[in-house]
Amino acid sequence: MSRIIFILVLLVVGYLLLKSWQRRKQLNNQRRDEPSSGKIKNQQHIVSCQQCGLHIPENEAVQHGGKFFCSLDHAQQAQLTNRSTPKR
Ligand SMILES: [Zn+2]
Repeated sequence: MSRIIFILVLLVVGYLLLKSWQRRKQLNNQRRDEPSSGKIKNQQHIVSCQQCGLHIPENEAVQHGGKFFCSLDHAQQAQLTNRSTPKR
């Protein structure tokens, strides 16, 4: 009978060790994910210029009025075309 209890205790201890080992592994994976998530940030959203339709990464785009442009020139051009619309 004591043998069965011994085996049960071994199983429980083994189970707990396995669990803590898995938790450590998960923590390690999370730590590894942090630098990789930085890589994902580098591959940012691709946005298209509202003026010419050119596709550019969001961090290189010029944002103006909630719209994206490939360059300041195009942002200004879009602004000018908006201004030139006749007021009635
Ligand atoms: Zn453009």
